[in-house]
Amino acid sequence: MDEIMHLVRPAIAKMTPYSSARTEGSQIAMRIRLDANESPYPPYPAGADQYELNRYPEGQPEQLLDTFADFYGVPRDRLLFTRGADEAIDLLVRGFCTEGIDAILQASPTFAMYAHSAQVQGVDIVDVPLVSPDFQLDVAGILAARDEHPNIKLLFFCSPNNPTGNLLERNDILSIATALTGKSIIVVDELYLDYSGTDSLAAVLSDCPNIVVLRSMSKEYSLAGERFGITIANPEIISVLGRMLAPYSLTQTAIRAVAQAMTPDGLAYARANIANILDERWRVSQALAASPVVVKVFLSDANFLLVEVDDARRLVRVMQENGIKIRDRSTMHGTGNCVRISIGTPAENDAMLSVLECYSEEWG
Ligand SMILES: *Cc1c(COP(=O)(O)O)cnc(C)c1O
Repeated sequence: MDEIMHLVRPAIAKMTPYSSARTEGSQIAMRIRLDANESPYPPYPAGADQYELNRYPEGQPEQLLDTFADFYGVPRDRLLFTRGADEAIDLLVRGFCTEGIDAILQASPTFAMYAHSAQVQGVDIVDVPLVSPDFQLDVAGILAARDEHPNIKLLFFCSPNNPTGNLLERNDILSIATALTGKSIIVVDELYLDYSGTDSLAAVLSDCPNIVVLRSMSKEYSLAGERFGITIANPEIISVLGRMLAPYSLTQTAIRAVAQAMTPDGLAYARANIANILDERWRVSQALAASPVVVKVFLSDANFLLVEVDDARRLVRVMQENGIKIRDRSTMHGTGNCVRISIGTPAENDAMLSVLECYSEEWG
């Protein structure tokens, strides 16, 4: 589809995918594999859980393509698996933006990786900040910025947004995507969507060919340590990203862990954890709001809370002295004197709240 392909970075548009031992020739299971210079022995100590670790993994595992196609209700050719959503962000920037010529647009305060990838690729960052008080998109400002900088290839919107925690208005994203059809790609980062109880924009991809949805097993399925992200997009975009992908980017252990997490029992387990976290989000936000050192607890659609306090740096330091890490977001645009606190187990949250109580006795 020309609407997409003319946006691709020329060097990438010309490329073919890396051809590896796993992708070349017959994919039928062979009795003896002597094609990839692997060691024929399992790694030390050769336990049952290390089965096949001496073999290169499938680049895009067939079984998981079926699983996620079914789960998200999209055809397999709209899916790409990466080492976390972070890798997908990086592939998008490298696939569409030419150094020194193109730009990305973001709406701060937001996730830092978009700007980071843009800097690595040497492309400009156009920032159209979210509008206070509820951190929504400045639709007119974004469209005006795109008119002014026609080389904005990618617009990154995070919903629910990190670090503010709120969902962005779905209709705002859709109206920007519609206005920029054939002009730019809209990347919607839905890393926290399951904590919001709302539907994915993956459902609208047939109508909006320029939307890319990012999902991940990290924040909702307890698999941050395995690095597994899912990009959902139109097949042209998937194929552009796919040709840049390292030949064996997913580990055998990640593939297995994700397959387990996506079984009916695995999904029930994740749903129960999400429900617990939502209960705790409510309880913790009530407790925080009652503290004399808390100025404001922002509404959250994610598994963390943005909290405006009397002195963010001091609170972060005191928490740290007590062995508790929270995130100082006070230097970001629009979140002065704010900290971001992830929702932990009830015991972890209680420990954090009791340090806050001591802190407020001293400073409140
Ligand atoms: C954590 C996070 C990511 C990165 O997720 P991985 O799948 O672990 O790479 C991407 N976007 C947002 C908004 C995040 O908070």
